[in-house]
Amino acid sequence: MDKHEIIKLLKSQQINPTRQRVDIAQLLFERPRHLCADQVMNELSDRGLGKASKATVYNTLNLFSEQGLVRELCIDSGKVYYDSNTAEHHHIYNVDTGELWDIEARRCPSEMVPNLPAGTTSVGVDVIYRVKPQNSYK
Ligand SMILES: [Zn+2]
Repeated sequence: MDKHEIIKLLKSQQINPTRQRVDIAQLLFERPRHLCADQVMNELSDRGLGKASKATVYNTLNLFSEQGLVRELCIDSGKVYYDSNTAEHHHIYNVDTGELWDIEARRCPSEMVPNLPAGTTSVGVDVIYRVKPQNSYK
């Protein structure tokens, strides 16, 4: 996605395309990715893009998430990743390396979904398989 398309996308979601928001969106939407706020900060500086404060990065990622541009993945209490692939899918997470891989939704059979409590409706299913290297002693 080039800068022009990014600006159009942000505007279509009623997001004011400030320079920092456009920079952050470019990192996320150049290909399907999973990035946490720290990785976004590091990439901004690695690429020589303008510096953004941690607060700005967090606020921007939250805004994108609220507008449905990215999906928030709470891997554990200390780690939130932002996924630029918003189609329904699941994940494999390496607890040693922090790597995340996508799994197509159809590969997690719907029989896995339990009977829902009366009066509720499903708004989404998140499956995270946690893995570690076989020779890891952790
Ligand atoms: Zn994903």
